[in-house]
Amino acid sequence: MSGVRDRALGAYLGLAVGDALGAPVEFMTPMEIRERHGLLREMVGGGWLRLRPGQVTDDTEMSLALGRALLSPGGFDLRAVAEAFAAWLRSRPADVGNTCRQGIQRFLAERTLQAPAREWHAGNGAAMRILPVVLATLHDQEACRTFSLAQAHITHNHPLSDAAVETLAEMARRLVLGEPRAVVRLLADELVRRMPEFRFDPYPGRATGYIVDTLQTVAHFFFGSEDFETCLVGVVNRGGDADTTGALAGMLAGAAYGCAAIPERWRKALDRNVAREIEAQVDGLLGLSLNPLRSYAPQR
Ligand code: MN
Ligand code: MN
Repeated sequence: MSGVRDRALGAYLGLAVGDALGAPVEFMTPMEIRERHGLLREMVGGGWLRLRPGQVTDDTEMSLALGRALLSPGGFDLRAVAEAFAAWLRSRPADVGNTCRQGIQRFLAERTLQAPAREWHAGNGAAMRILPVVLATLHDQEACRTFSLAQAHITHNHPLSDAAVETLAEMARRLVLGEPRAVVRLLADELVRRMPEFRFDPYPGRATGYIVDTLQTVAHFFFGSEDFETCLVGVVNRGGDADTTGALAGMLAGAAYGCAAIPERWRKALDRNVAREIEAQVDGLLGLSLNPLRSYAPQR
């Protein structure tokens, strides 16, 4: 397996593994997790969504929906992305974030592809699903930025969400390309310089679905650990929006350390159909990234 494919697959499987690992403790406090699970390090299932062990939630499902749209004949077509989100919502998913639901419903009612700017759009729901765009635009930084933001704006339109989307996408892109963590750290530091509310060192300790808390948690544990398992165990045991912080940390750690770094017991527990679609999408999306004739300009 080539290095790029290994890291791309590591990122996508890492995203799903982090989602499935964290979802059973979503909305719990660190103390509640300790009382119930000790240190959570297995795919236990359960939680408020009553999940099967290894079952993923909206973070992975919306990523897969976005990937399906990019791989459809329409390609980089925002309308196809919005339709894919709508099809997913119609499938009656176990979990949907409020801002995502409202954004998809607005698209269905008004056919508009951009949410109006709103104060409560600073959730992490747009950032959690960026990976398919990253893989499909792997060799084109500007295309990655433009399309990551365009897909985000279907549901989320807020400067803090935008800043996190841009930064996380570029971090993932560079990690998949093989750049070292120390270089990628500079991107996070640059974000903090531009918007000091994102400062994650010292770690403020909040892990909610507010994108600032989410990014701080992911960055703190990703840069503060040296392997996939330590990073993910640290993140999900903070509770809060544990499936989404888990998904984003899994994306970065999987990209940094590759597939083989994901513990076998977690990979084996992962929903079989999800794992299969991820493998197929990775090859398709990396194929798109190599097609120089494709226009990345988001169609409106
Ligand atoms: Mn979720
Ligand atoms: Mn979540």
